[in-house]
Amino acid sequence: MSDIKITKAKTSKIDSVDFENLGFGEVFSDHMFSMDYENGEWINQRIEPYGKIEFEPAMCTLHYAQAVFEGLKAFHVRDGSINIFRPEKNLERMNRSNERMCMPTIDEDMFFDAMTELIKLERDWIPKDTGHSLYIRPFIFGTENFLGVHPSSTYRFMIILSPVGAYYKEGFNPVSLLVPEEYVRAVKGGVGEAKTAGNYAASLLPAEIAQKKGFTQVLWLDGEHHKYIDEVGTMNIFFVIDDEVITPPLEGSILPGVTRDTVLDLTKSWGMKVNERRISIDELIQSSKEGRLQEVFGTGTAAVISPVDEIQYRDTNININHGQIGPIARRLFDEISGIQYGEISDTHGWIYNIP
Ligand SMILES: *Cc1c(COP(=O)(O)O)cnc(C)c1O
Repeated sequence: MSDIKITKAKTSKIDSVDFENLGFGEVFSDHMFSMDYENGEWINQRIEPYGKIEFEPAMCTLHYAQAVFEGLKAFHVRDGSINIFRPEKNLERMNRSNERMCMPTIDEDMFFDAMTELIKLERDWIPKDTGHSLYIRPFIFGTENFLGVHPSSTYRFMIILSPVGAYYKEGFNPVSLLVPEEYVRAVKGGVGEAKTAGNYAASLLPAEIAQKKGFTQVLWLDGEHHKYIDEVGTMNIFFVIDDEVITPPLEGSILPGVTRDTVLDLTKSWGMKVNERRISIDELIQSSKEGRLQEVFGTGTAAVISPVDEIQYRDTNININHGQIGPIARRLFDEISGIQYGEISDTHGWIYNIP
């Protein structure tokens, strides 16, 4: 029995939504989940119509960004049930982010109750077409009103839902990356491994510069030596060199992606040579020059696998696999999507199914 108070919307917006042309995170379902943290406990669990929330101008999050978010997806399964992919990993990561930002954690039962009740109520919002899904956005922020810099004593946790379209309308769309020379994303000891609001505000300017130069996203080098590859704006990064699958290790500045973890597990289970190790931009350029660089792809919940066909660093332009999707990227995409939509049986225990 959950103690969630449910207030239903009087009318649904669903008929006004063009499910053929869903972007990413542009429309939101009819309801949202909220609860508040006061006097050391989470209270007032509720599901209400999606809508405006009101705060004072002195609300601390507007000034000091004590805010954490997560992103995961619910998939329509052909038998009418719902699959959610590895939600416990998102909760674990959210609680680690919360601890780094001096925010209260959320226990597993409470999180699963909230998410399950909301998804059940909104099941019509889960798109049925292959490649489409319902994006789940849990987030937490400080709600106290003050201007001194200190942790908030009150918080709100919310979940909102957004139906999203296929990331690749006509098959895969390779992305191009620019390595910024004057900016860094994170340093060890900073907040790079937390999914916290300020990281994304800090990434906007470098991303905008990259886009003006014709690149899709930024490829970050480490903040200390400006030499080793960290990750992409909202994706982790993988390289295949001499049949070795390589991704930078989690040493404090990289966001520990759920998709990254999934790709490591799968490639290992396929008997590939897999290594979490540092890789410098120079090593990458060298491997490309010598014809040993086979594939580069990003990993993240939104696109699952994003093949990279071009990386620009100073005057060097690395072209990868002639703009073609590599076999490992393809196999990973097919396998992970297959498990998510329930078309490939889940032997890893990755699926949380709602009948
Ligand atoms: C969310 C995110 C990722 C990908 O994580 P997933 O759990 O795979 O979606 C990678 N890098 C950054 C900076 C992110 O914010």
